[in-house]
Amino acid sequence: MVAGYYIWTIGCQMNKADSSYIASLLEQAGYFPVTCAEAADIMVLNSCVVRQNAEDKVVAKLSSLKGLKKIHPNLRIILTGCMVDHEVEELQKRFPYIDLFFRPQDWETLQQWGGKQTGRVNILPISSPPPVSSFVTIIRGCDNFCSYCIVPYRRGREQSCPMEDILGKVEELVQRGTQEVTLLGQNVDSYGHDLPAKPQMADLLAELNSITGLRRIRFLTNHPKDMNHRLIEAVAQLDKVCEHISLPVQAGNDEILKRMRRGYTAEQYRSLVEQIHLAIPDVSLSTDVIVGFPGEDERQFERTAELLNSLRFDTVHIAAYSPRPGTIAWRDLADDVPPQEKESRRLRLEALQRNIAAEINAQLWGKRMEVLVEGNKNGKWQGRTRTNKLVFFADSANHLGQLVKVNITETSPWSLQGVIIR
Ligand code: SF4
Repeated sequence: MVAGYYIWTIGCQMNKADSSYIASLLEQAGYFPVTCAEAADIMVLNSCVVRQNAEDKVVAKLSSLKGLKKIHPNLRIILTGCMVDHEVEELQKRFPYIDLFFRPQDWETLQQWGGKQTGRVNILPISSPPPVSSFVTIIRGCDNFCSYCIVPYRRGREQSCPMEDILGKVEELVQRGTQEVTLLGQNVDSYGHDLPAKPQMADLLAELNSITGLRRIRFLTNHPKDMNHRLIEAVAQLDKVCEHISLPVQAGNDEILKRMRRGYTAEQYRSLVEQIHLAIPDVSLSTDVIVGFPGEDERQFERTAELLNSLRFDTVHIAAYSPRPGTIAWRDLADDVPPQEKESRRLRLEALQRNIAAEINAQLWGKRMEVLVEGNKNGKWQGRTRTNKLVFFADSANHLGQLVKVNITETSPWSLQGVIIR
C-alpha cells in the first residue's frame, strides 16, 4: 500500500507527543507523511478544547474537511484529542463524515481500526528516526479538578507509566539519535504515587540521568501544590536535568486561586519560587495565567500583574478565561467579566511580560551559551539553551543534533541570535 497521511495538531505538548506517536503507528502501517490535507489519504485531527478559541479552530477545521471529503471520498478522517469524550454519539451526529473518533491515547481503538483498514491484525511502533529532542509521556490524566479545566474529564485520572518502561523507551530513543527528552504529564510532580513501589519524579530523573548518550532532560508541567524539595534538589544536582521549570500560577489573588481550586496561596507560590531560586541560581521559570476568571475584579487582577512584576518569569502564557462545559466553574460560577475587559487585561499582562522578557534576555547579550541544535529554519540553525531560550545562528556546516557554543549577539523578548564559537 502506498498512501499518505497528514496530522493536524493543536494544543499542549501532550498533544504534540501523541501526534508523533500516531505518526509512528501510521508509518509502521505503511503510510507516509504528506504536507497538506489535500494530498492525504488519511487525515488525523488531534484536537484541544481547553479554551473556546482552540475549540473554535477545531470546529472550523472539521467543517472545512467536509468539502474535501466530497471531492476525495476515499479520504479517511480521524478525530482524537480532548474533543473526544465518552459520548462519541454526539460527535458522530455533528460530524457524520468522520471515520473514527478515539479518546486521547486510546491506542487500542486506533490500532484495531488501522488493522481493519490495512488488513493487518496489529500495527507495531516505531520506525522512523526520532527527533533530536523527543517527548516522552510519563503520567497520563489528572486528579486535580481545577474548576476551569476540562482535562480530568477528557484524559481521565492520573496513571503513571512504570519506571522501567520509561527507561526502556528513553534508551531506545537515545540509541536511535535522540539527545534530549522532555518528560510529559499534566502534573509530573504526581508521578509514581499510583505505582506499587511509589517512585517519585526525583527518582525517575536520577535514573534517566545515568543513561549514556542522553545529553539533556526536561519535564513539564509542575503543579505548585505538589512540587517537593527532592525534585528541586534533583534539578539542582543532576547534570543532565536542565535549569528550566514550568510552574503554572494561574492567578495572583488568593480568592481567585481558591475559586480555581488550585490548592495554594499566592504567598505559598512565592515561597516555592524563592526555594527554587536558592537551589538553582540560573533557573529560568515559565508560568501560565488566566485573566477574567469569574468574579475577578480590577483589584484582584492587579495582584496577578504584581506577581508577574515581582517574580519576573522568563515566559508567561496568558489566556482569557472561557467556560468549558462540564467543568466546576462552568456549572457553579457566572462568566461575568465582559469579553472586552478580559481582552484588555490579557493585553496589559502581555505588554508587561514583553518588557520583563526583553530585560531578562538583554542580560544574555555577549554571553556564551550551550545550544542543542534541533533544526534549520529559513537558512538558520535553531536550538535551545539549557534554560529553554530559543537561539538562531547561521553557519554553512551541518550542526543538527550537536551541542554547540554560541555567542549571543542580538536579543528580543522571544528569542536570541548569535554566532557559533569554534
Ligand atoms: S492540574 Fe488543574 S489545570 Fe492542570 S490539567 Fe489538572 S485540572 Fe487541569
